[in-house]
Amino acid sequence: MSYGHRLFFHKDIYNLKDTDDLFLNAILENIKHHTDKCQDYAKIISHQGFSIKDVKTIEDLYKIPPIPTLFLKNHTLYSAPQNKLMLKSTTSGTSGKVSEIALDLPSAWNGLGMVLGTFLTNKLVSFYPTNYVVLGYQPSKRNKIGAVKTAYATTYAAPAIHREYALKDTGTDYVLNMNGIKNALLRYEKMGLPVRFMGFPAYFSFLLKELIYSGIKLKLHPKSLIILAGGWKNLFTEQVDKTALYEMSQRVLGLGNDRIKEFFGAVEHPIAYFNCPNHHFHVPIYSRVIIRDLNMQPVGYGVPGMLNLITPMMASMPFVSVMTDDLAIMHPGEECGCGISSPYFEILGRVGLGDIKTCAANALELLDIKKCGVV
Ligand SMILES: [Zn+2]
Repeated sequence: MSYGHRLFFHKDIYNLKDTDDLFLNAILENIKHHTDKCQDYAKIISHQGFSIKDVKTIEDLYKIPPIPTLFLKNHTLYSAPQNKLMLKSTTSGTSGKVSEIALDLPSAWNGLGMVLGTFLTNKLVSFYPTNYVVLGYQPSKRNKIGAVKTAYATTYAAPAIHREYALKDTGTDYVLNMNGIKNALLRYEKMGLPVRFMGFPAYFSFLLKELIYSGIKLKLHPKSLIILAGGWKNLFTEQVDKTALYEMSQRVLGLGNDRIKEFFGAVEHPIAYFNCPNHHFHVPIYSRVIIRDLNMQPVGYGVPGMLNLITPMMASMPFVSVMTDDLAIMHPGEECGCGISSPYFEILGRVGLGDIKTCAANALELLDIKKCGVV
């Protein structure tokens, strides 16, 4: 079994110390694979004076030249032939910036190990029949947006009785299905089964305000879950107040702090970061996170800088080390107090690239969120 597969099927998903060697070997294996199979990647990193021999210990990971996600949005790089690519997804972007991700079998296998480990550790797998509210697009053949697929895939973590979508496919277009959601929720409450919500924080906030406006107050099954995807500040810079949103959820749905799970991920770095009970994104064994200053030098704990994400997950595309446009800060695991020892990061905002519209920002426009006073 490759180092990568061993890492992704390791059970103890926050034990960085015991998996450092495995991680290092998986990264070296991954870099070698990409430099062999993707000429452009080999050129990019050698152009920056990098040699795989430079990485001898886990402390040397910062030497791997990170590729900016902005570059990857304009240049799709593959390390596998087209006929080996199984799953393709794209991220939306009105500015013409589109990210594509495609998985071959080894990458999908790693992904499966990670999903199992992450879902089991976060107790997201349930055998209870469950009703779903997907605060996003209904999947269709013509919609390849990654977030749609993620949300849809997540509805398999517990057996689905019914799924209601906020943006319904009419066959030619999408329409906002707020009445459908309200009626479904009233039905779900009567059925007495757990309900799972999936979506971006802004969508969820919009839904709660709509429910309040319509005078609807529910008491959903206590095993219900709200799964919110995407960071907070990076996507919505202070537009959604987390504490206020959690309180509102408790009031409107009967589901508070302990039933809300947040999740952070990026297309170019498809690792799932789930928040701990104290709502922090601890680094799992599948990745390492480096914060860098403007000169690309790594900074320590407590110093804000650019977020650099490293993982050996992908064999199909050279996403070993990517530089996001997020501004973040790292904290030692112990500072959290939840018992998880691996460090955690906090997203502070974007690194001055205001012209990039994420799919979440598009969603904001689509929902015309201003009308209900969120912004
Ligand atoms: Zn924690």
